[in-house]
Amino acid sequence: MSNWNSGIHDRRLKEQICEIGRRVYNKGFAAANDGNISIRVGENEVLCSPTMICKGFMKPEDICAVDLYGNQIAGTRKRTSEVLLHLAIMRARPDVKAVVHCHPPHATAFGVAREPIPQCVLPEVEVFLGEIPFAPYETPGGQPFADTVLPFLKPGTNAMILTNHGTVSFGSNLEEAYWKTEIVDAYCRILILSRQLGGITYLDEQKSRELLDLKKRLGFDDPRFHEESCDLCGNSAFRDGYKENIPQVRAFEPPPSYPGYLQSPSSASSTAAAPAAIDQEALVKAITAQVLAALGQK
Ligand SMILES: [Zn+2]
Repeated sequence: MSNWNSGIHDRRLKEQICEIGRRVYNKGFAAANDGNISIRVGENEVLCSPTMICKGFMKPEDICAVDLYGNQIAGTRKRTSEVLLHLAIMRARPDVKAVVHCHPPHATAFGVAREPIPQCVLPEVEVFLGEIPFAPYETPGGQPFADTVLPFLKPGTNAMILTNHGTVSFGSNLEEAYWKTEIVDAYCRILILSRQLGGITYLDEQKSRELLDLKKRLGFDDPRFHEESCDLCGNSAFRDGYKENIPQVRAFEPPPSYPGYLQSPSSASSTAAAPAAIDQEALVKAITAQVLAALGQK
């Protein structure tokens, strides 16, 4: 796990980029030559996918290496121009060792509709992701595009919508970075389907808090653990990151207004009833099993 700085000749990591590329392509997250993948392999070295290649058919020889500022240092193919986005994230968040950018249709649809992704709906999404902020639109490829994510890289953020473009997710290894994209797109798909069936139902305040307690116990970070003034479910942890175009709820019910995680709960829900305790135990078991399965893949 800690051997991330194994250098630009690490064939195993190049193969891992190819493997994640196949999954991205086979899931329909990247049409044609869309998407790009990177792994940090040293203080100033990053392996990344090349430009103009289908992510489903890459070979280890195709993988490029760049420094943390995007200068190509190895590889026969030209590096992707969007690697600047990956590098901006790695420079701002030294804990991030891998980045996946692609265009998964359901999550990207939220970015095109500019509809915020609701919180406090599905347990796994709360525990693994939390609020998914929207980086503003910019023409892809250059440094201004890469810099759009900077206001939203608070500790605990690990996935983002790129407005009118796609998604980016990241983590301490590539597997983890990738499965966050899968969770976001599966969640967005469920949200769209639920809306067709009549709408979404938010979890109540107590159940939402229980999920964040669980998240804390499992050792995951969340912006809501640090922001005194943000709501529990109101997508407000990144309010100060938006200069303009804050996504506005149009398709879904507006989120319920519960006090933030660091504030005291509303009195009605502060005493846990016995059946709730049983539910929570089952939930802890289910989510812990998923976490262990995910960590086992490292
Ligand atoms: Zn893209």
